[in-house]
Amino acid sequence: MLSSNSGVQRMSQTALSRSRFLRLAAGALLPSIDLRLSAAAAPNPQLVQNSGAPGTEDAAAPGRMGAILVSHFGPVKIHSYLSPADGLQVNTQMIEGPNAVVIFDGQLLLTYADEVASYVQTLGKPVDRIILSHAHTDHWGGLQILTERFPDARVFALDGIADQVRVRGPARLDGLRRTYGDKAATKVTVPTETITEGLQRIDGVTYDFKRFVDAESDLQLAALLPEQKVLMAFDLVFSPNQHAFTGANHFDHWMIVLESLKALQGYDTITIGHDTPVDRSAIDSTMTYVKRAKAIHSVSADAKTYSENLKAAFPDLQQAGFVDLSASYLYAAPH
Ligand SMILES: [Zn+2]
Repeated sequence: MLSSNSGVQRMSQTALSRSRFLRLAAGALLPSIDLRLSAAAAPNPQLVQNSGAPGTEDAAAPGRMGAILVSHFGPVKIHSYLSPADGLQVNTQMIEGPNAVVIFDGQLLLTYADEVASYVQTLGKPVDRIILSHAHTDHWGGLQILTERFPDARVFALDGIADQVRVRGPARLDGLRRTYGDKAATKVTVPTETITEGLQRIDGVTYDFKRFVDAESDLQLAALLPEQKVLMAFDLVFSPNQHAFTGANHFDHWMIVLESLKALQGYDTITIGHDTPVDRSAIDSTMTYVKRAKAIHSVSADAKTYSENLKAAFPDLQQAGFVDLSASYLYAAPH
């Protein structure tokens, strides 16, 4: 086992820099789903000044628009790239082992995927593989750049996710192109390799891959890193500071999934799909949110009502754009 105790202690201290990160990355939050690049494109000088907690560091670089938090676990490092608000504050996690890097998720926009790729290159190790956590566009939109810049890295996902990307991807990209122009991908990048559930060791890091259905998305990967005591939950768990995406209409089953994460042992820190890492209490806050959203959905006749009521129920949460987006999916005509 690696020196997990010190790693956990250090990782939990990421909480100390959360508020700073949030200020940095959420500085340009927009109230609508029509989030345009210009609003958040300016690099934030605070990033350069942010020294971070012991054991974690903010890998700031002049001109970089996203934020990067590095957590140390002996020979293993987790680098978390967080995009600015117009990129939906989505994370790309880079797990750096002794010899290689494993990348999880590919960003919404090409611009930010490009920052991820440039950062990975500074680590001086080959990209072993890229793993897609689920089929929502904000997690694969930028894979086009990552696969161009790391042509030897194969793209993995759970069985079923490639099909979802292949089927729904073109329409999603059309929508992205209308909003973001050439910051959005021109082609759909479909995973070609299947990742299976269970324990796997990749470059000295143990992953316990898990498959969940009918939660925030229809199909979602999670990974427990037992030696680091980290759960990579992606969009199963949301930040206590942000709205969650509820557009998949799986309120009841998502609660069951969250209960199972609560029952799961062996981790203290959760890396999530959006925003900086959280502790286990974020499972409870996500449950509170999902429960409330379900109740509001059951009494709201249309998207506008759902959206207004949910925002009123959680007036302090960021990423209100998720609410409008969720409402548009929940109340869309069946197709
Ligand atoms: Zn997401």
